[in-house]
Amino acid sequence: MSDALKDLNPQCDAVVIGSGLAGLSCANMLARSGHSVLLLEQHHQLGGLAAWFKRKGGHIFDVSLHGFPVGMIKTCRKYWSPEIADMIVQLKGIRFDNPQFSFTTTFDRDDFTRILKEQLKVPADSIEGFFNEARDMNYYDDQTMTARELFEKYFPGRDDVVRLLMEPITYANGSTLDDPAISYGIVFSNFMSKGVYTVQGGTDQFIGKMKDELIKNGVDIRTRCPVERIIVEDGRVSGVIANDQTIKCRAAVSNGNLLSTIHRLVGDQHFSASFIDETNKVRLNNSSCQVYMGIRKGEKIDYIGDLLFTSTAEKFDSEMLRSRNITSRTYSIYYPETRPGSGMYSIVASTNANYEDWAYLPEEEYRASKQELIESTIAALDKYLPGAREKIDYAEAATPRTFQRYTLHERGASFGTKFEGLKISMGLNNEIPGLFHTGSVGIIMSGWLGAANYGVIASNDVDKYLRS
Ligand SMILES: Cc1cc2nc3c(=O)[nH]c(=O)nc-3n(C[C@H](O)[C@H](O)[C@H](O)COP(=O)(O)OP(=O)(O)OC[C@H]3O[C@@H](n4cnc5c(N)ncnc54)[C@H](O)[C@@H]3O)c2cc1C
Repeated sequence: MSDALKDLNPQCDAVVIGSGLAGLSCANMLARSGHSVLLLEQHHQLGGLAAWFKRKGGHIFDVSLHGFPVGMIKTCRKYWSPEIADMIVQLKGIRFDNPQFSFTTTFDRDDFTRILKEQLKVPADSIEGFFNEARDMNYYDDQTMTARELFEKYFPGRDDVVRLLMEPITYANGSTLDDPAISYGIVFSNFMSKGVYTVQGGTDQFIGKMKDELIKNGVDIRTRCPVERIIVEDGRVSGVIANDQTIKCRAAVSNGNLLSTIHRLVGDQHFSASFIDETNKVRLNNSSCQVYMGIRKGEKIDYIGDLLFTSTAEKFDSEMLRSRNITSRTYSIYYPETRPGSGMYSIVASTNANYEDWAYLPEEEYRASKQELIESTIAALDKYLPGAREKIDYAEAATPRTFQRYTLHERGASFGTKFEGLKISMGLNNEIPGLFHTGSVGIIMSGWLGAANYGVIASNDVDKYLRS
């Protein structure tokens, strides 16, 4: 038996495969409901994309802690603990800078209404109508209207308005103008209710507190344990295989990529042909590139805003946003307040990216391209932080290959699947009793808030199944 599975009880009610925010939330709720839960994570660290890493010079970089909607406070208070919820604070300086407009906003409905009216001269009733329609959208609504059609209805011909409303959401979940309007409207309205929030203390402390809570609630946590197979016997789940060991369970909840769960962990032969046909239509979302830049210990930088959406492209174009020829970057600036007492500053630049642009580069070209990405990002940052280069003493880049390697998401998909993935994810248990999925799918369930909430939703279904 491998060390990672030492002293393991070879039987439990539910195995949760993967410790992203959805997997963690699902495991926690199942344990709170009295079930015996084993959490298996292939990486050495919990959190999935809610990741951090330490580097020389005292740097800690957060990977996906840029911002999430206020709803995360309620989710953490209700499904985790008041202490975890109390770590969440608002980010007030959200800055846009592109050839069409440049300003700083608190990124909420009141401030966006002001900007749309005063700066972009949009009539008040169009703004009101748009916000109300977006706010009232929910999952059960008509899915045929696209985001493009929604914008055209209220702001015909206004590509500057579309850019303001769409670009940050494209960064947040990879959605495009051709995705269903509801997947845009639900996520946008979540942000507009009260702005953008983050964790004070950093991802490491946040996930650390979640780990403490899981242990307190009796979850058996094992890291460095990639699950190779979900065992299906007599048409239902009977266990999983990890590190060559069989563990018996009545339910398996995969927090891994939806498509690898079906095709690799379970195997197409266990599903109906029509289900596999539908699964084959599910599109993965795009991937990301990031550049992590650490400011030398003891150095300071001025306050230039918390989150900067920058672009040199004339107009918003989601394809250009993913191109290796980068025109648009989001900068997250982490001041010492992110980790009080640390005195450290860091900057993370993110861009959406296509897997194909990076996946097949020969090793040498890949390394050179990463270096070029770092160099061009530091050069672009100079506009916002003149002289930043002299203060940066550490820089590193991540590409779709990096995301694939650390999360096992096919094609390094940062935000799960497109909308059609949600139905497939939710339908697994009808195909194979005891089989569940939770994690970024359908655009709506992605991001810190979407993933955590989906973990809770999945735990309710698993709980019902285990009690049936
Ligand atoms: C660059 C970037 C920036 C982002 N910024 C933000 C942001 O600012 N705000 C926001 O809200 N969201 C952001 N996101 C998205 C957000 O981080 C994710 O949507 C969310 O964290 C995903 O959670 P998840 O539960 O779906 O699973 P993931 O985080 O994808 O975790 C899945 C876990 O399953 C594990 N796993 C997979 N297969 C196996 C297996 N076979 N056996 C064992 N373990 C397995 C993986 O190792 C991983 O730990 C960002 C994402 C990226 C990539």
